[in-house]
Amino acid sequence: MRGFHLRFSGKVRLSLSWRPWLVALLLGAAGLRAQPVAPPGAGAAGAVLLRPAAVFDGQDLHAGWAVLVENGRISAAGPAAQLAVPAGGRTLELPGLTLLPGLIEGHSHLLLHPYNETSWNDQVLLESQALRVARATAHAQRTLLAGFTTARDLGTEGAGFADVGLKQAIDQGIIPGPRLLVATRALVATGSYGPKLSVDEDVPQGAQEADGVDGLIRAVREQIGKGADVVKVYADYRWGPNGTTLPTFSQEELALVVQTARSAGRGVVAHASTPEGMRRAVLAGVETIEHGDEGTLEVFQLMKKRGVALCPTVAAGDATAQYKGWHKGQDPLPPRLQQKHLSMQAALKAGVPLALGGDVGVFAHGENAREMELLVQDYGLTPLQVLRQATSGNAQIFHLADRGSIRPGLLADLVAVAGDPTQTVAAVRQVRLVMKGGVLYKQP
Ligand SMILES: [Zn+2]
Repeated sequence: MRGFHLRFSGKVRLSLSWRPWLVALLLGAAGLRAQPVAPPGAGAAGAVLLRPAAVFDGQDLHAGWAVLVENGRISAAGPAAQLAVPAGGRTLELPGLTLLPGLIEGHSHLLLHPYNETSWNDQVLLESQALRVARATAHAQRTLLAGFTTARDLGTEGAGFADVGLKQAIDQGIIPGPRLLVATRALVATGSYGPKLSVDEDVPQGAQEADGVDGLIRAVREQIGKGADVVKVYADYRWGPNGTTLPTFSQEELALVVQTARSAGRGVVAHASTPEGMRRAVLAGVETIEHGDEGTLEVFQLMKKRGVALCPTVAAGDATAQYKGWHKGQDPLPPRLQQKHLSMQAALKAGVPLALGGDVGVFAHGENAREMELLVQDYGLTPLQVLRQATSGNAQIFHLADRGSIRPGLLADLVAVAGDPTQTVAAVRQVRLVMKGGVLYKQP
């Protein structure tokens, strides 16, 4: 990554490099309302014709297609011979590259960083909000430059409502980052979550504790009022005897959460690993189940019947197992990962819709593609399946009708990668161009 572009006030666009003197100079210039330094026609308003080797439109690969971008949106897509650049626009030749819809991360925590750097407990208890937000700004930038132009960020894990401000900073062009759907604090049943220290101390928790009719209604409404796009509940957690995972909220409580959120136009996502936690969440009407590590064929069939998607987060378990000393490729699969394989087989057999999300933050932001790679390498999905998941699939599951595909009228959130990711999934790591809303953040 050499540089990125920021758009100010919707008009002035600056090209920033990382040399501090230049950043300072340009930020100073921005304050003085400097003229754009980018070439004419390169901003959100100017027309740009992108001519890659092929276009993956969210469903299929089309060799020889081109895409026209105008006013921050895709205005045309089709065989290159049929598309011309309007007067005043410019052409961007992208030989050898495949153009994709901007990828959509389904499960991130921008306010967390990898647990092998700092334990989750210490992040929640010892790191200041300012430190965590400063890190999150770097995480947001890495996510965007990795080609993920949208992220569903599922909980600040003790950082309050900081994700709302982060989202505003991105939307206002103050920092580069993906478009965010945020969950704010997330909801846990009292006593079920962490950190847990001495019983004599009530320490800050990684999510908001709420219970019962009044408590849950109030907490859901508070999170929505503060800016939650989705409401996240922990339907089970490791609070059973000997640290086993058991359900937390009752069926009635989960139904109440969904009902309260839905009346305010928000969907609910549930963290759930046990069949009973998943079953309750599905019956309550949640839209996605996160993790589902112990899911059975029966509960996945119920999800399929109710149209509930699974976001399997296979990269999270893969990372934490390695943090605990598992040598991948040498040691046998740890029991938890064996269980995950059985659960994924059952989910695939049941035909549950799969969202794409890795629980990024457990591992490094910017490594979002790891989930896609593991689903192909370790879980038998095809590159085409995971590409659809990360684009049109996630857009559909998250109700984002304005993105996830390449077709006229949609947001010009586009990524170009070297090679053909429909054949070799690792190509999604070879990001050469990132455009969000018609603004280039990275280009060859
Ligand atoms: Zn998570």
